[in-house]
Amino acid sequence: MNIAFLGLGAIGRPMAARVAGSGLPLTVWNRTASRAADFAKEFGARHAATPADAARDADVVVTCMPTSQDVASLLDGPEGLIAGLGNGATLIDCTSGDPATSRKIRDALAERNVGYIDAPVSGGTTGAEKGTLTIMVGGDAAVLERARPVLETFGQKIVHCGDVGAGDAVKAVNNAFLATHILAAAEGLAALVKMGVDPKVALDVINASSGRSNASMNLIPERVITRKFPRTFRLALLEKDVGIAAEVARDTRTPAPILQLTADLFRIARGEFGEVADHVEAVKMVEQWAGVEIA
Ligand code: NDP
Repeated sequence: MNIAFLGLGAIGRPMAARVAGSGLPLTVWNRTASRAADFAKEFGARHAATPADAARDADVVVTCMPTSQDVASLLDGPEGLIAGLGNGATLIDCTSGDPATSRKIRDALAERNVGYIDAPVSGGTTGAEKGTLTIMVGGDAAVLERARPVLETFGQKIVHCGDVGAGDAVKAVNNAFLATHILAAAEGLAALVKMGVDPKVALDVINASSGRSNASMNLIPERVITRKFPRTFRLALLEKDVGIAAEVARDTRTPAPILQLTADLFRIARGEFGEVADHVEAVKMVEQWAGVEIA
């Protein structure tokens, strides 16, 4: 089984490294070619010059871009994916994408008898390195089975969520929870700090109580209290995800004021902190408003 991997970003790179480490023959392509060249050298993969070149001879192509639109932009033209994809190939899109664009990509590929699943991941860059990602899949069960050996190289829990777009929707809602937990935890802790409570003491209590979350258990102790704020997952990408969750709520006519508000707050944070800030840096916005540091 020949694999092609397109998009060697913060999470795509360690995922592709897991594919290479499994021994499956791998071709890589990245928009900034030097990143793909470095990867190919380090892992003994083939470096393709174009998406079409990467897809040629590939049974399974994996894409991992910021947005579904970025994936769609790679499909057409003489250098595009469709020009290279063979009859019966499979595209696994690991982008945290949006359901409507994923359906359009599925339809464009179906005309060429290429199978498609949306397969966004969760577990962060460390989960990708360890091969312990959770993967939420939308699409045909038969296409998922063809893709499974590749998914298993970087994923531990692989869940079929429904038709194309269902993986994207579950991922967006998961990340909307992450975003609301970060903001709510930051607001509550900022208030406690202003009352004179040590945030470490507060977290010790909360993490043994019913208000705990990934934000309170991991992100705030490891990244905020330490003031390290490592850059592993861009705030801009989380803003995109909460926006997709808010859109899913609107499309399904589900009242969701908390999701809409969180989407707006992350849009403000993205405007303030820019495209390279980490998602946990949204806490700094709450700190600025409160006039305290959670430390
Ligand atoms: P990065 O921004 O680090 O990397 C994005 C990658 O996509 C780079 O390889 C970039 O190429 C490429 N790219 C961007 N735009 C285009 C384009 N228009 N055409 C072709 N290539 C393009 O993102 P991540 O790796 O962090 O995220 C990728 C996806 O995974 C996102 O949807 C994100 O939401 C999701 N995700 C990320 C997690 C994380 O912890 N980082 C966790 C879970 C999901 P170049 O090198 O040229 O810039």
